[in-house]
Amino acid sequence: MNYEITGHTRLTGLLGSPVSHSISPLMHNKAFQHLGLDYVYLCFDVKENDLKSAVEGLKLLNVRGFNCTMPDKTKMCELADQLSPAARMIGAVNTVVNDDGVLTGHNTDGVGYMQALAETGFSISGKTMTLLGAGGAATAICVQAALDGAGSIRVFNRRGRSWEHAQKLVDSINQNTSCKAQLFDLSDETSLRSSLQESDLLTNATPIGMCPNETLSPLPSADLLHEKLLVSDIIYNPRETLLMRQAKEKGCQTFNGLYMLLYQGAEAFHIWTGVDMPVDLIKKAYFSA
Ligand code: NAP
Repeated sequence: MNYEITGHTRLTGLLGSPVSHSISPLMHNKAFQHLGLDYVYLCFDVKENDLKSAVEGLKLLNVRGFNCTMPDKTKMCELADQLSPAARMIGAVNTVVNDDGVLTGHNTDGVGYMQALAETGFSISGKTMTLLGAGGAATAICVQAALDGAGSIRVFNRRGRSWEHAQKLVDSINQNTSCKAQLFDLSDETSLRSSLQESDLLTNATPIGMCPNETLSPLPSADLLHEKLLVSDIIYNPRETLLMRQAKEKGCQTFNGLYMLLYQGAEAFHIWTGVDMPVDLIKKAYFSA
């Protein structure tokens, strides 16, 4: 299909630092080209202190929208004119759409994870989930799972930087959704064992096991796993983490973070264009194992 930059081409892109490693320009530009949509996606290396000026500039230039990455996701909440319900509850924005000068902040990370989960044939409705971590990605997943009807979410986090945030997260879920959320110390092996016994889904949203620490697992022992558990790791480098290998040995179904990455982008694409991203094409081009 003919694809040219014209006087009408709408700009989308990614703000953050560093951004040059991002797969987002490849995904979005290939999808725009394939569908003949008059948009382009570029990366802008913007330091945290310059985010406000960059956002004001993009608004002035009437760009269609943009993604932002850590650590800008929290700050972007204050810079958007309005927030989606999920972005408000998560307290972080990764996608902004500009409608005639009004910037709406969304968070598509949770939707991305839930879409990847749905693709395995799993329905979250009424299910029990054990979630490891309470950082940015874990928060988005936790909120979206609760909004999508999870029955119970047990968050396991270490008593560190994000412990207070984790307490507020479970309180907010208990107050605003029908899901029952509880917080536990990740080092409490007894609670972790009984939580996993009662769970349908385990999600690792900590970086434990990510390259270059591939020899680490977030679990103290593989014996905590059982074959009926669906085990997911939102890490995608390596494609198969030690946790996933431990789970496979126990007979569990597993998936990694690649399709979460794909579907958070597909959701942003839809927000900007109103059109579905051709995900099969994008999977084939950039997400094959
Ligand atoms: P984050 O905000 O820094 O949160 C990390 C969480 O893991 C925090 O709860 C942190 O606890 C905990 N943690 C970190 N190191 C730990 C350790 N050694 N032991 C126990 N807990 C530990 O990071 P994030 O942005 O949520 O990212 C988390 C992981 O998800 C990363 O591997 C990232 O690459 C991946 N990710 C994947 C996608 C995707 O699309 N697939 C999207 C986003 C992120 P403290 O607060 O105490 O440090």
